[in-house]
Amino acid sequence: MRDRLLSVYESLLAHYGDLRWWLAKTPYEVMVGAVLTQNTAWRNVEKAIANFGEHLSTETVANVDLSELARIIRPAGFFNQKAVYLKEVTAWYAKYGYDAPTVRQEPLAKLRAELLSTKGVGPETADSILLYAFGFPTFVVDAYTVRLCGRYPIEAGKGYGAVQAYFERNLPKSATLYNNFHAHIVINAKDHCRKKPSCAGCPLAGKCERRGL
Ligand code: SF4
Repeated sequence: MRDRLLSVYESLLAHYGDLRWWLAKTPYEVMVGAVLTQNTAWRNVEKAIANFGEHLSTETVANVDLSELARIIRPAGFFNQKAVYLKEVTAWYAKYGYDAPTVRQEPLAKLRAELLSTKGVGPETADSILLYAFGFPTFVVDAYTVRLCGRYPIEAGKGYGAVQAYFERNLPKSATLYNNFHAHIVINAKDHCRKKPSCAGCPLAGKCERRGL
């Protein structure tokens, strides 16, 4: 199991390299992106973030009117809901003085539980924030991960918790590895393992049982 999963990672790493997601100026920008990307394409998140101009900050989001915040993030869709979610996530960050090193001193399980009890934050958003904004070793599971597991196959089980536990049990506990592996899975899903797979040139084609089917 462990060897099989590691060989998937190593094939993706050899092909795509060390990606070190996610490109953002601050941990807070990662948090905002993790909320805004729910149910929308990343290009729409970029448009919403661009609407802040030079003013994307905890202070802006904490102090701006909800209706104005919704207007700013409109390109990301579900903007009324997401404006509320951004306020809530920002209020969570305020408990730590908007200070990433302070967050990093806390136990992962405690932070994850707090985020999961924050309005609009499910497991994928919570883990994206913890891994990509703060560097905690928590594996992010998304629809692309589930698709790859079903096709390759990787017998990771069903449901977010089961799949996450499988990856974490069978990989070294490393935020860098989790960061890269999730990024590789997403990029490979866009380049090759689409809804209708395009297996020619896929770095996993050598061992994938669904190749060409
Ligand atoms: S070989 Fe095809 S089905 Fe398998 S992971 Fe690659 S694109 Fe997906």
